[in-house]
Amino acid sequence: MSGHSSVVTSVLDQLSASGHKKVIFCNDTSTGLKAIIAIHDTTLGPALGGTRMFNYNSEAEALEDVLRLSKGMTYKSAITGLNLGGGKAVIIGDSRKQKSEALMRSFGRFIKNLNGEFITAEDMGTTMKDMEYIRMETKHVTGVPESLGGAGNPAPFTAKGVFLGIKACVKEVFGTDMLAGRSVVVQGTGNVGEHLVELLRQENVEVFVSDINEERLHEVARKYKAKPISANKIFTIGADIYAPCALGSTLNDKTIKNMKFAIIAGSANNQLANEEIHGQLLLDKGILYAPDYLINAGGLINCYSELTGFGKKRTIQLTENIYDATREVIQLSKTEKIPTNMAAGRIAEKRINDIKQLKTSY
Ligand code: NAD
Repeated sequence: MSGHSSVVTSVLDQLSASGHKKVIFCNDTSTGLKAIIAIHDTTLGPALGGTRMFNYNSEAEALEDVLRLSKGMTYKSAITGLNLGGGKAVIIGDSRKQKSEALMRSFGRFIKNLNGEFITAEDMGTTMKDMEYIRMETKHVTGVPESLGGAGNPAPFTAKGVFLGIKACVKEVFGTDMLAGRSVVVQGTGNVGEHLVELLRQENVEVFVSDINEERLHEVARKYKAKPISANKIFTIGADIYAPCALGSTLNDKTIKNMKFAIIAGSANNQLANEEIHGQLLLDKGILYAPDYLINAGGLINCYSELTGFGKKRTIQLTENIYDATREVIQLSKTEKIPTNMAAGRIAEKRINDIKQLKTSY
């Protein structure tokens, strides 16, 4: 019993430390569902975030992931100017072996019981089909197929936002946002990576691509006349820009040390292994870093349009704002002499606090 209460205390302590509003542990023995939903902040609106299915080594690891990711969503929505809060969900299990219609619908019923405080979407390990199953139980889900009234694949919008983030950084570093003649390494040629390669090649950028999936790598390289490189060449190649579009934490002690890029701007979430340390390290090295959640918000904007009933035109407009938003972050970073990730954090927090004030007036 005493062991039990110490676990509860430590979970609540974790929530206090990260400013979380609530966490819901979902357990359904009949379908095998074990999930955690984290709601970080709902000042600006309902908490929106994807559902990740992953075979975590422990519950503690799953909790840590969902807390970190849901907080990130609060900042992403805030800086993008959306009226959404931050949330995220994780389902513990192997998405290839343990997923079923019943499991996803059971999860959908947990979301339903939150009465709109949390809205979900796809993430790693979940697909549009899973969103369809959740949709059978609750309307608080986005990213359903266009045939069901959804906004469809978010990746092209994410890629567009990243592309504009790159342009805003190039303008800062090279004095013009013309991309022709510049060189970019795109790490990960998946959904977002491929669209980004396409946009860059349309502007005559020299593009190097890397992917652990060899087949995919060569297919994308051939299609867009990009140059395939092996993973161990990414950080030694003399390119202007590094666009991480695969996994997080690629900006760490080991990689930053020998980095020669002028700019880092990509779609991967949580690129900085440690927010406190690595943003400053990049600033010290004179590398301009475009905060990931700022420039990869195109997909979230697409979900927002689905929720609000805005069409594609509005999605494009909001995605195009990413250029100016990136310029604003760079300016603040320069005037305050702080890393760009910190500047973005300040802008996001200011919006949340300003709107909080507004809500005190009837
Ligand atoms: P994806 O799964 O379609 O593509 C990821 C690609 O990265 C795959 O081709 C995979 O083989 C490759 N990869 C994995 N590990 C690698 C490594 N070590 N080196 C090189 N390549 C590797 O995913 P996606 O939808 O294109 O998303 C890419 C990143 O952007 C993810 O981190 C995702 O969380 C983030 N993101 C995506 C969206 C979106 O709209 N899809 C929105 C916001 C953020």
